[in-house]
Amino acid sequence: SRAATDATWELVDRSGRRIAADEVPAMRALRTGQVIRNQVVGLRDGRDEHRWLQVNAQPFTVDQNKTRIVVTFTDITAQELARRDAESTSELLSTIVETIPDAVAAYDAEGRLVFFNAALSALYSKSADAIRLGARLEDILRAGLANGQYPAAGDTIEEQEAWLARRLALHKSPPETPVLQHLDDGRWLQIRERVSKSGLIVGIRSDITALKAAENRVRVAAERDALTGLVNRKTFAERMEATLETLQAGDGSGAVVVLDIDNFKDVNDTLGHNGGDAFLQEVATRLTENCRAGDTIARLGGDEFALLLPPEVYSRSLALSTVSAIVERVCAPLDIAGRRLYPKMSAGVVLYPDDGRTAADLLKNADVAIYARQHEGRNGVSLYDPALKQQLSRRSELSARLREAIANDQVDVAFQAQVNLHTGEHVAFEALARWCLDGTMISPSEFVPIAEEFSMAKELDRLILRKSAALLARLKARGYEPGRVAINLSTDTLGDPLLVTTVGSVLEPHGITFNDLEIEVTECVVIERSHEKIRANLAETRERGALVALDDFGTGYASLRHLKTLRVDTLKIDQTFVRGVLRDRGDATIVKAIINIARSLNIGVVAEGIESERQALFLASQGCRIGQGYLFHKPESDIEELVRHLDGWRWNR
Ligand code: C2E
Ligand code: CA
Ligand code: CA
Repeated sequence: SRAATDATWELVDRSGRRIAADEVPAMRALRTGQVIRNQVVGLRDGRDEHRWLQVNAQPFTVDQNKTRIVVTFTDITAQELARRDAESTSELLSTIVETIPDAVAAYDAEGRLVFFNAALSALYSKSADAIRLGARLEDILRAGLANGQYPAAGDTIEEQEAWLARRLALHKSPPETPVLQHLDDGRWLQIRERVSKSGLIVGIRSDITALKAAENRVRVAAERDALTGLVNRKTFAERMEATLETLQAGDGSGAVVVLDIDNFKDVNDTLGHNGGDAFLQEVATRLTENCRAGDTIARLGGDEFALLLPPEVYSRSLALSTVSAIVERVCAPLDIAGRRLYPKMSAGVVLYPDDGRTAADLLKNADVAIYARQHEGRNGVSLYDPALKQQLSRRSELSARLREAIANDQVDVAFQAQVNLHTGEHVAFEALARWCLDGTMISPSEFVPIAEEFSMAKELDRLILRKSAALLARLKARGYEPGRVAINLSTDTLGDPLLVTTVGSVLEPHGITFNDLEIEVTECVVIERSHEKIRANLAETRERGALVALDDFGTGYASLRHLKTLRVDTLKIDQTFVRGVLRDRGDATIVKAIINIARSLNIGVVAEGIESERQALFLASQGCRIGQGYLFHKPESDIEELVRHLDGWRWNR
């Protein structure tokens, strides 16, 4: 009681409020006669230190106007301080729990919610109403289910019940590894639960959507091509394997297509890298637009794309027409950086499971088909054919042997005469390559393309040029006038910046000059990518005295415009037209037209492949001056035979 009035001591209650003098427990007990049980009061000194006392007061009525009380004080300072500590810790904990973004929930053994933080209701917005202390987990989950919060739960009642049962089972005996949960708003939660010592099931739910998205980006980067967003080679192969694996007997067949852009290098060269990228992106977009939903479209790398068409019972012809239609649309003209481009593509088509049972085999065979598209195919699309494989292995065998033959000087040259159709006199020779392999002659129509493909064309041309110069020199040395020798040069040679120098140095030792040469180029050369270089080379050889002939005229793609830009001296009418000239109106018309074009451009004409007198006479009558063919002379390597030909030979009309 004194403390209540004493200046150095204050009597306070638990919340720190000062207790007025008449409210001091003993006084109140006296005044009211009430029992006081375990009231806690504090004695606070000037330095704000407390002693805590527990007060019990028991009033006794002694007689009518006398009341006594028994008051006991127990010093509970230690307990009180401990209690205060604990209280502030739990306050801290609950602040922490409310602050963390993760949802925290504890359920008792009966599955009733005994603790949760605000994040729980925030994360599960669609079941927030059901989240209350005492609510059962099952009911909370059901509320979420009813609002479609769990996409993984399925749509039917059965599916949802099964999902619920699984979820509750996982809750009852939580697994070591966290459980993933997908919410309908697109978020991913990770649930970690644990049974506490006291039997509570305590769980943390974390929003890992951002993590998932990052993981997804990494996965996409690994699976897709960065430039076009199409599936990459690795993923494409995996999808093929997966498709092949699930393919049952009788399921029908699907198709794998490898697409290759023709001359993509040109696009890059003319438009620069960005232009090339834009081109590839446009091709990817067009492929996507023109394929169906179930098709897989991939960029295998560089300018190579691929399609996986599902096993929808494709026949060879159906696959061919489907792919042809796609290629046609992808190859529509397109404008990039102010330029109009006309894309061209080659496509190789294989059917699975017929043409291959592994992804690797299918891709390889699709490549084989692309490779063989010169032989068959519509707008660049060709089908795989097992026979192609044999052809391919023959080609690679031949290429190895040809390399050897060129290195060992075993390819020979034969000269075939060109004849004046009006006078019957010898005019010139064409030099043709001859290769005898193990006793069999291999046609240059077979080995020249191989030389071109396996980068031996320059060596081959050089060899033929050297041998032709030597043969020509020997004929001259024996006093003959063999005329010019026409040399067939391949694109690689013609595009070589050193062409003129090289040719000069090959001719020189034999005393042969450009004036002794005619250079035969095919029409494809004219539309080649290194066209500019070729044109410059041809112009220079002409300046030095060589003539230029356009070979196989009428079979390629050269337009009349090319005839103007590429100055040539001679058109060689292809032998396929000559062959039909007497029996096919079309052939005759073409031959006449070529002769007329040549005449009006003031260019010479050579008809090749003349085998009959009547053909020769017809051509002569149309104004073709020079002819070449078995009728006059078969290609000949032996110098004595050539001498015999030159020795006063004349075609007698
Ligand atoms: P090409 O330049 O059109 O050569 C003419 C081809 O027709 C030669 O075939 C020749 O033997 C053949 N020929 C000539 N007269 C007749 C005839 O009356 N009837 C028939 N049916 N054929 C006749 P070859 O020698 O088999 O050469 C085929 C092709 O190979 C040549 O066609 C040419 O494009 C290429 N080639 C030949 N030698 C060389 C060469 O040294 N270098 C290059 N780059 N290509 C060559
Ligand atoms: Ca020729
Ligand atoms: Ca020809």
